[in-house]
Order: sequence, then C-alpha cells, then structure tokens
Amino acid sequence: MNALNLSKRLEKVASFVPQGAILADIGSDHAYLPCYLVHKGMIQKAIAGEVVKGPYESALNKVKEEGLEKQITVRLADGLEAIEESDEVDTVTIAGMGGPLIVSILENSPEKLKSLSRLILQPNIHARVIRRWALENDWAIVEEAIIEEDEKIYEIIVLERGKMTLTEAEKLMGKYLINEKSDVLMKKWTREVQHWKKVLSSLEKAESTLDIIEKRKELLHNIALVEEVLGE
Ligand code: SAM
Repeated sequence: MNALNLSKRLEKVASFVPQGAILADIGSDHAYLPCYLVHKGMIQKAIAGEVVKGPYESALNKVKEEGLEKQITVRLADGLEAIEESDEVDTVTIAGMGGPLIVSILENSPEKLKSLSRLILQPNIHARVIRRWALENDWAIVEEAIIEEDEKIYEIIVLERGKMTLTEAEKLMGKYLINEKSDVLMKKWTREVQHWKKVLSSLEKAESTLDIIEKRKELLHNIALVEEVLGE
C-alpha cells in the first residue's frame, strides 16, 4: 500500500468521501488516505489526526515525502480534538479501529461534531455499537458496504444527519447490507453463527451462574436474528 495505491479496505472508505470535501482523517497512521484523496483531486484539503507519537511522525513524514504539506495538516491530538473551527472540516473518516473506540471518539467531542455533515466509519469489529450510537444521536445511515480483504471482512458505515429506524437485525448486520445480501455478508454471518454455537455449547457445560445465563440468552438472541436473515 502507498499514497497512490490504497488497500481495498481504504479504497472503499475513500469512495464515500464527497468530491471537494474538507476532510479530517482521525487515526490516520501513515496518512495514506488523505494523501491518496489529495493526489486524486478528490478533496480540497485535509487534517490527519493521530494521538500516538510514532504514527503521528509517520504521517508527518509521508505528507512531506508526497509534497502535500500545503493541503494536509498533521496534528498530534486525541480524536476529533484534531479539528479546529477555522479548518471548516465537513467530512470525517475513522477507519481501522474497533466500533467501541470509534464511538468513544465521537462521544468525547460533541461540540466538534456540530459542523460535520458526513461521517465515514470503518469498524474492524462491533459495527452494531456504531449503528446504535447513530440512532441515539440523530445520524442516519446513508450507505453501507462490506468487503473482504486478506481473509478479513470489513464493514463501512456512512452517516449523515437525520433520523432512521432500525430493527434489531439491522442494528447487528446493517440495513443496506441485509437488503443486498452479498456473498461476503453471508460468509461473515455464517462464520459468526458457527462461532457463537461453539461458545454456546461450551457454556452449556459450565455452571449456571447469572452471567452465564445472560450470555447464553444473548447468544441465542443473536443466533436467531442472524438465522432469520440468512434464511436458515
Ligand atoms: N486509519 C488507518 C487505517 O485504517 O489503515 C490506521 C488504522 S490504525 C490500526 C489505528 C490508528 O488510530 C493508530 O495509528 C492509533 O494510534 C490511532 N488512534 C487510536 N485512538 C485514537 C484517538 N483517540 N485519536 C487519534 N488517533 C487514534
């Protein structure tokens, strides 16, 4: 991967960035995504935010190496705190982290969210917490994608301001993704159900503490939701 050739995962994230956007890429690591988008003429300018010194320095070096210092500002900051009002950022990307970490980044800076119109989020795991956060905070899913790369499956959720309703299955698996029922979706959830059933059978051998009873209930609930969608 480099600033001109992204991974399939980041390329998909990039495809949801509106033409002419002012972007903040939070947790930018090597700043590949903003460099790619500027090289392709897809965005006006970008902020690359990083909270860890090593990746922050990698981003600084990459932006310099690509000669993009005028268009991309790299900042060492926690989450959305990388964004300043004068940047006029309208679009945020947060990719390659767990769903709960992405939600904590969004929750930690409510005032920074006010001026944003599009959030492009790519959780590596637990996408459901993002859909729940969106529902509770008046963001609506406008697009979703699911892709497979190197044996790993990734979901991408695109949010804009608005209201939506989601069923329990849609929170778990994604409304648009369920409608599409792609092979990748089927693969992900078939795998997940197999895993849950293994966990369930080992829990059945364990002592019935309250925690275990709750966990079993949760697994059975999730399995039923997914099997209904898969048509099993
Ligand atoms: N976004 C890139 C991608 O998708 O390939 C890099 C993903 S990398 C696995 C996650 C990056 O997020 C790390 O560089 C980490 O330092 C950064 N990160 C984690 N929490 C953060 C936070 N609260 N604010 C800014 N960056 C954060």
